[in-house]
Amino acid sequence: MKPPPRGRFAPSPTGRLHLGNAYAFLLAWLASRSRRGNMLMRLEDLDPDRSKPEFERAALDDLAWLGLDWDEGPDKGGPYGPYRQSERLGLYQEAAERLAERGLVYPCYCTRKELRGAASAPHVGDAGPRYPGFCRDLTPDERAEREAGGRSPALRLYCPDGEVAFVDMLRGRLALDPQELGGDFPLRRSDGVWAYQLAVVVDDAAQNVTQVVRGDDLIDSTPRQILLYRMLGFQPPEYLHLPLLLDHEGERLAKRHQSLEIAALREAGARPEDVAGYLAWLAGQIERPEPRRPAELVEGFDAARLPSEPTRLPPDVAGRLVRGAGISAE
Ligand code: GLU
Repeated sequence: MKPPPRGRFAPSPTGRLHLGNAYAFLLAWLASRSRRGNMLMRLEDLDPDRSKPEFERAALDDLAWLGLDWDEGPDKGGPYGPYRQSERLGLYQEAAERLAERGLVYPCYCTRKELRGAASAPHVGDAGPRYPGFCRDLTPDERAEREAGGRSPALRLYCPDGEVAFVDMLRGRLALDPQELGGDFPLRRSDGVWAYQLAVVVDDAAQNVTQVVRGDDLIDSTPRQILLYRMLGFQPPEYLHLPLLLDHEGERLAKRHQSLEIAALREAGARPEDVAGYLAWLAGQIERPEPRRPAELVEGFDAARLPSEPTRLPPDVAGRLVRGAGISAE
């Protein structure tokens, strides 16, 4: 038997949680708790322009309302704190220095505009265009010249060629080539903000997270993160990437789906057990969409029953959830 996992919730407090977030968080919780694992709560608030304290509070409240809990977090403390990324900046700096000492990173002076201009390179998924490598091989003199021109650089990783293989609990073995997923990626933006890719690896490793369950919109990030794990000498966690929930038109859930925000459902009178039961049904964990508390789903959780394709929600899902018992009347 494998040891109990340490899973995590890693919300970015940049907006209110919607049904898709709740789906991923419920499944992350079930994947850990069904193996008697721990859960930690980490707020990914690195982006100072987009992160707001009110979203932080709301995320914790929404998840607790749904019936999810965590053993450590910004509200509870714990041995692996702090639990806000904005309070962990020294760790990212240290990791970047370790990579720099080994010549694995370089300063990049490209402006957004220059990169947009070069955006004809092929790209896959969400990674955006592949970095064309303008600053990859600058000489010390060329760097000095750009510094003198007052440009403050981003920091990029020299991304090696070749596929990075990993095992996903749902999809099995995957092999993706980070060069094809955007190439050399930033570890720090030019305004000094640490990038998600570095912070998430440093934190998951330092906080001893052994299980990562998240939406498969992040699957392109996983090979990049595994590269960082290897370069920093850390052991990667096990991964489960969930096919996303889509609206009835097949669009990803986003800010404009306000009626599908957990807070909106709560305010409209939905009960947490109706929301959790509905999500568990979408996740293949129960036969019918019936009210369930997350704790009642732990025992029967089976990752093998998760859908392998994205799930399209019906048009009036908010109405159904608010009508409660009506959710079972298909
Ligand atoms: N904070 C990230 C997000 O909200 C999730 C990061 C992760 O699960 O690795 O998209």
